[in-house]
Amino acid sequence: MSQPDASSEPNPARRVFLSKPHMGGSERGLVDEVFEANMVAPVGPAVDRFERELEAYTGIAHAAALSSGSTALHLACILAGVEAGDEVWGPSLTFMGGVSGLVMRGAIPVFFDCAPESWGLDPSLLEAELSAAKRGKRLPKLVIATDLYGQSCDLDALLDVTSAHGVPLVTDSAEALGTLYKGRHAGKGALMAALSFNGNKIITTSGGGALLSDDGDLIARARFLATQARDPAPHYQHTTLGYNYRLSGVCAAIGSGQMQVLEQRVEQRRQLYHAYKSVLADAPVRFLLDQPDSRETHWLSVAFLDRHGPETLRLALEQDNIEARPVWKPMHLQPLFKEARFVARWREPDTNRAVCETYFDRGICLPSCSQLVAEEAEDFERVADALSRFF
Ligand SMILES: *Cc1c(COP(=O)(O)O)cnc(C)c1O
Repeated sequence: MSQPDASSEPNPARRVFLSKPHMGGSERGLVDEVFEANMVAPVGPAVDRFERELEAYTGIAHAAALSSGSTALHLACILAGVEAGDEVWGPSLTFMGGVSGLVMRGAIPVFFDCAPESWGLDPSLLEAELSAAKRGKRLPKLVIATDLYGQSCDLDALLDVTSAHGVPLVTDSAEALGTLYKGRHAGKGALMAALSFNGNKIITTSGGGALLSDDGDLIARARFLATQARDPAPHYQHTTLGYNYRLSGVCAAIGSGQMQVLEQRVEQRRQLYHAYKSVLADAPVRFLLDQPDSRETHWLSVAFLDRHGPETLRLALEQDNIEARPVWKPMHLQPLFKEARFVARWREPDTNRAVCETYFDRGICLPSCSQLVAEEAEDFERVADALSRFF
């Protein structure tokens, strides 16, 4: 949440953020209850309650509330048996929090280009690469598929491919709480799914995450590892390495309040996406498409510019004190991963750019705060004006 550039003209208008917390109203009361009952610790009824709510909402049988989405994915790697030197495969177009866990395991990331239109991990590209890996007797230990910007990956197709090769699949659903894929919640059907309640996500616990699975043993193990892996003995005995990754009771109470308004937030973000589509109906812009049989949350409204570079638009919006951001920078372009293998699907003949590189070149995330459809509708008008002037 950076301040406007000090060198530009002072702009009295309220800053429009990319994505900010949006409280529903009951969170404070629930936090008060937690204080009154002295349940602030990262264990007890407030945490349990939030976990039951996540299970009921997602239809995934077991949930462990954790300190972040990144820590949830770190634990997912451990639970999937990822060890130093193993390969973990996933999309290049994602956020670092989905990759840091496997790096902490000492695993080798292999990054994949995405499927055009759906932006997710491409099942046919994955299948071709898995078959080649099987011939070379070097299958990945785990595949992590990302649900980008409130859109589900093509989970069934990916599960068909991975299960045929006996490779487990975990979803990084950090951006997809509320997303439905063929009528079920994003990540349902994967071995495990990770959620994030970071401050910029569709709901927030101020900071937090969760790991979910239909396999209760995995989630019991996740809770064990997240509380320092203490063996059942009074004298603090450890046979495995654990972590301090649980969610505090205070944060869980905020989460319970946010769960009450989650469906409303989904509707608001979807409305905003449609509002952008109509404002930009005549502009040389495309949007992330809705997939058949799915309900996208449009956590962020992502536009794809046919002509202009997104940086010119970003700077123009910044002049009006409006925050926009480029699409995630693909992992294989990150200095940290310059040695990593990248599996391209196809390259644009003129530019030699892969699909995810083109998305990075041309994509921009527009302000997507759920407040913009009601309480702060006048700010949406400012954004719409700025966009109309630009195009
Ligand atoms: C936000 C996010 C994460 C990490 O979640 P934190 O709670 O911020 O650690 C991981 N992957 C993706 C794709 C995300 O957007």
